[in-house]
Amino acid sequence: MKFYIIAFLIIASFGVDIDKNTFSNYREVKMQHLHIEWLLNLRTKIIDGSAEYTFKVTTAELKEVHLDIYQMEIKYAYYPNVGKVLDWHVESDPKQSLVQGDKLIIKLGQSYKYGDIFQLRIKYQIGEAARALSFLSVDQTDDKKAPYLFSQCEANNCRSMIPLQDTPSIKFTYSATVLTQDSQINVFMSGLPVENNKFALMEQYNMNGIAKIFQFELKIKIPAYLIAIVAGTVQEKATGQRTSVISEAKNIDIYQKELEDLDKYVKYLEDYIGEYKWGFYKIVILPASFPFGGMENPLLTFANPSIIVGDKSGVSVAIHEIAHSWFGNTVTCNNWSNMWINEGFCVFLERKGLLQLFGEIDYVYVNSQVGTKEMNALIKEFNTSTDPVVKSYASLHPITEDHNADDSFSTIPYERGYQLLFYLESIISETKFQQLLKDWLRQNEYQSADENDFYNFMITWIQSNFTIEQFLAVKQQIDSVYTKWVYETGALPVKQGFGNHASTQATDLAEEWLSSRPGEQPQGYEIFDQFKSNQKQLFLSYMLEKYINMNTITMKQLDLSYNLSENKDAELLFRWYTLSIQTKYATTNTNLNQIRSFVGKIGRMKMINPIYKALDKNTAQTWYNENKNFYHPLARQSIENIIKSKGQQINVELL
Ligand SMILES: [Zn+2]
Repeated sequence: MKFYIIAFLIIASFGVDIDKNTFSNYREVKMQHLHIEWLLNLRTKIIDGSAEYTFKVTTAELKEVHLDIYQMEIKYAYYPNVGKVLDWHVESDPKQSLVQGDKLIIKLGQSYKYGDIFQLRIKYQIGEAARALSFLSVDQTDDKKAPYLFSQCEANNCRSMIPLQDTPSIKFTYSATVLTQDSQINVFMSGLPVENNKFALMEQYNMNGIAKIFQFELKIKIPAYLIAIVAGTVQEKATGQRTSVISEAKNIDIYQKELEDLDKYVKYLEDYIGEYKWGFYKIVILPASFPFGGMENPLLTFANPSIIVGDKSGVSVAIHEIAHSWFGNTVTCNNWSNMWINEGFCVFLERKGLLQLFGEIDYVYVNSQVGTKEMNALIKEFNTSTDPVVKSYASLHPITEDHNADDSFSTIPYERGYQLLFYLESIISETKFQQLLKDWLRQNEYQSADENDFYNFMITWIQSNFTIEQFLAVKQQIDSVYTKWVYETGALPVKQGFGNHASTQATDLAEEWLSSRPGEQPQGYEIFDQFKSNQKQLFLSYMLEKYINMNTITMKQLDLSYNLSENKDAELLFRWYTLSIQTKYATTNTNLNQIRSFVGKIGRMKMINPIYKALDKNTAQTWYNENKNFYHPLARQSIENIIKSKGQQINVELL
């Protein structure tokens, strides 16, 4: 009997994929509810914070709580009801402090047993060192009236705003009180606003200095990385019955117009996957330094203004973020080595929504082809590394231990993950796979999961929904690729073509340019102007793949023919600018200055990182120094990594 118990425990623990990027003892005690209280001082860039936790014990005996923190000042910890102050200290590994942060250890002064529930409070202060936060000065805003603040917690950055169990394995409800000292400033958080001072203040303040008090709550459990805040002269405008846009006043009408179909997008996704359970959907168009295209904070998606192109071609980002309401926010990866459990599934659902938007599968496949090109280039790049950690970034299970989980972030979990699901769908049929996904959501609603959970769920599901012969055949097919797809770093085990007429038009035209004589335009070159934005992206991605054959005369001809350097669509501009640097067109033409200005106006990493990668070290360093203050801390980190990896090469030509 004993043997069987031990054997069972070994198997059970082997099957659990724990989070190696948290210092918290989250397997022994779990946050159930978090209440935060923040006094914002945006002019001095300081936030006085208090956090109250409701914990549940999940071990036989608990004497300490360990939380993640990053560059913050802890003032004290105490029991709220009796006011008893608790001993605490910070355990710090100098090698990890600026990478993943530190461990805050709170001694509870007593033992708790399995199932006990207790509350704790911590008072602390954070400032500019909080890498989740971007404090913008008045002159960095559109309205130029007041300072601005926004957060970005994914992956492990929430620990720089709040001491907590910063792991996607732990989900909790939260509420918040935010006090401001400037009456022009509005605050939104990833929760529903509540009124009439529902929550009593935890701290005492000099109320003469307080302009407004905002309160929020979210009754659906979320992981720490989905806590979000934006504060500034921001306002909200409805875009439909259950959707709205939030931004500074300057461009809000333009944003509202571009996003007028948000209600429809939510409906497209509901048609495929089931009810949207979060109530409202709100999207904030942030300042251009926001480092991502979008971030799926529940009830408060954040988006970069580069998604507002004027022809609605950038709204696929909004559809992607809405799709996270199911994949990512309802079922969440349980650690950052499993990010594809969020992103791969989300892209899959996004493309189901895009099919309804475009009305033709061809245009969805163009997106898949653009994604595939970017993925293949990265798989190649990561595989040239001698560092096993970097190499693992080409797989669906990157090594994140001892590293900032953000380092492994790339298009791989999106596209490699998407293609795995696309392949699985092709094996078991569209309608069956749709049902499988719905059941996966239902079974794992408001929980966290990993690739083993998905595999086990899928196999059991197929077993109950197919005949035994079919099941065995399908299982064999899945087993021949699943492990390779997830864990191996090489090319995908099954190549998907996504062939279609719209893509062929784009790649044929690119091919004609590549083989045209210098100074000559291919016949029918004007067709480019009729392309959709994603076909133009594919055209440029194809060029980027084969640029070795391009000469600067052809580049100039291309520029003149399509007015590429002056384009307004940032999706096209960053590809064109990268190509301009790689082909040395930028060294002999004035578009070098346009590129320099582009990287100073936009902080979206997807768009500036390829440019920094293409630049020589000196130029990259010079441009980075010019724009460092504008970039979000996460973008800074990532560009610094790019510059560091360039070694000592010097190319004065570009300066
Ligand atoms: Zn996403």
